Amino acid sequence: MAPEMLPPGSVIGMLGGGQLGRMMALAAARLGLSVHVYCPDPESPAFEVSKAHTIAAYDDETALAAFAGRCDVVTYEFENVPACAAEVIAGKTLLRPGALALATSQDRLVEKTFLRKAGAEVAAFAAIDGIDDVDAAIAVTGLPAIVKTRRFGYDGKGQRKVDSREALVAAVAELGGGDLILEALVPFAMEVSAIVVRGADGKSAVYDIGENSHANHILKETRVPARVSPETADAAATLGRRIADALDYVGVLGVELFVVRDARGERLVVNEIAPRVHNSGHWTEDGAVTSQFENHVRAIAGWSIGSVETVAPTVMENLIGADADAWAAITADPRARLHLYGKAESRPGRKMGHVNRVG
Ligand code: AMP
Repeated sequence: MAPEMLPPGSVIGMLGGGQLGRMMALAAARLGLSVHVYCPDPESPAFEVSKAHTIAAYDDETALAAFAGRCDVVTYEFENVPACAAEVIAGKTLLRPGALALATSQDRLVEKTFLRKAGAEVAAFAAIDGIDDVDAAIAVTGLPAIVKTRRFGYDGKGQRKVDSREALVAAVAELGGGDLILEALVPFAMEVSAIVVRGADGKSAVYDIGENSHANHILKETRVPARVSPETADAAATLGRRIADALDYVGVLGVELFVVRDARGERLVVNEIAPRVHNSGHWTEDGAVTSQFENHVRAIAGWSIGSVETVAPTVMENLIGADADAWAAITADPRARLHLYGKAESRPGRKMGHVNRVG
């Protein structure tokens, strides 16, 4: 046994207690590893399936240090872990994925700059730190374009599509006046994602590329395999691996890509990366040999990663808000694999569960 392999019985610390943490905790339990969840929300879905939990704020350095002291490795289920929390934890125990992945993915400007350096195509982009930057930014991206907050945006929040200088000036003011990025509008035919897993030994694998569709800016469906050419699928996998290598990454990484089709054929433009298990990888629980959750746990525990092979074509449907009320009808289909997150309260736009249909 390699010395860096955490044996069964080891404790995995998890920052964040949502559905992603819950599914990672379930996967860890199956491997005989226990999970200690750290989350400020007393109603966290991950608490009921983990061995221990701490309810405290992400900037409570005393609580973070005590938590880290009890864990053999710490991971996270969301990318906005404060840098100070990452620092406290990394000073006490292993943090996987590491601080570089967090710092890179937390800021869209840093992220796009990194991606371009790693050899990925990204939309033309420019920083906007105030109204004075508007003209220079438009000169880079053209119009229409999308203006986004550099940090804390998700599911279409913190961004506006603009098609004139006046609209951009108004959007800049609405979004806080600075710390923004302007991106060229990518005329994509399809949105896909590559779910990459990279072990502590540097070996990596990429699941079959998923084709994503959204409703109200929230992921609605992932279908695997994506309807792209074999060359595009290979290119997405190669790109995913290259990005993970450049971050010296350990764990599962989600890479969101646009597929652009023009006279030259199909090409890929990277939108963003997520240093964690990803909603578009939920199909792997039933449609792949090893789920993304198990592979994340295996990687951060220093174990070999499991096969990412697809068992059969799979469609994952997110159950958002009242969609989950149809749980009885869903389970009437014997091929539908239902996953519910145990959230007490259903709200519009809230992810309540998902269903995988395999084969
Ligand atoms: P994001 O928060 O960056 O993931 O963006 C949310 C969604 O907005 C994406 O899934 C796309 O559908 C769309 N979008 C974001 N950036 C661009 C872009 N540069 N060009 C076209 N569509 C975009």
